[in-house]
Amino acid sequence: MNSTTGAASAYGISVEQEPIGHHKTRHTLTLLLRARRCPFECVFCDLWLHNHASATPVGSIPSQISDAIEQTFSRDPYRGTVPREPRWAIKLYNGGNFTDPLSVPETDWTAIADRCKPFDRVIVENHATMCGSRLLKFQEQLRPRLEVAIGLETANVDVLSRQQKKMTLSDFDRAAKFVLDHGMDLRCFTMLQLPYSDVKCSVDDSIATVQHAVGAGALFVAIIPTRHTTKAMQSLVRSGDHQPPNLRQLERALFESLRWTSEMKSDAVVIADTWDIDHVDHCSACQRHTIANIQAMNAAQRPCAISSCQSCGTEACDR
Ligand code: SF4
Ligand SMILES: [Zn+2]
Repeated sequence: MNSTTGAASAYGISVEQEPIGHHKTRHTLTLLLRARRCPFECVFCDLWLHNHASATPVGSIPSQISDAIEQTFSRDPYRGTVPREPRWAIKLYNGGNFTDPLSVPETDWTAIADRCKPFDRVIVENHATMCGSRLLKFQEQLRPRLEVAIGLETANVDVLSRQQKKMTLSDFDRAAKFVLDHGMDLRCFTMLQLPYSDVKCSVDDSIATVQHAVGAGALFVAIIPTRHTTKAMQSLVRSGDHQPPNLRQLERALFESLRWTSEMKSDAVVIADTWDIDHVDHCSACQRHTIANIQAMNAAQRPCAISSCQSCGTEACDR
């Protein structure tokens, strides 16, 4: 991910080969857009660190998208255009909610839709309680297929209720149904070991959350290890209300989730988010091997054997 600065630049622009099945990937241009800070202020969230408090100026988002497309495709081998084959997806992540008019002004939607025309799929993020008629209005303007990423975070209702997310599981289920009923695809973000989790249950919670997301119709589920980059999270670590997840838990959550999708013969893609993975808590004796195994599972979409480590006491598992 390239980090950029400046009022009208996305703060992250990257090209990914995103898994879409057994060793299959899709070219994806991911933009982390500078926009108005998300108003929800969930306890665990650090996305606001990159955003601003005031309303996003009109014209800023289309300009950030144009710049990113220009930066990405003006160089070889693209020769100035988004290739028609293979088809590309574009992620417009605004660190909040796409249908929040103060984050993405509605007057910019036509220009945004225009810039997204060469892509096959547009992926936006939105809070479950904001998936309604405004989403349909944007979809109407869009040529590519719309995929909506919703933060389910956790299916553990007690833990979810303590995140200030202002969303219940029923809100999520309603939003998932709305998205699917209107011909959009659903993607879910899930968090491994949120604050106030019971550490002994957090891997099982993570697997149950993946199962809930897939059951609700998600095509793609990301398991994200909870970060503690903000002062609020660091204070929860100090008070003992949050224990950062470790790599071996992430590996296990992915392994078991993929075992389940394989058994269910589900087409849903489940990945562990590898953004900043070097900073996830780890045992130095098995860190490299564990990251490689997580990456192998993300690509293969099959569980790959977990190896033992005498240093951290991880037991092998190859079921
Ligand atoms: S709704 Fe999403 S973007 Fe907004 S604070 Fe919560 S986790 Fe962060
Ligand atoms: Zn180890």
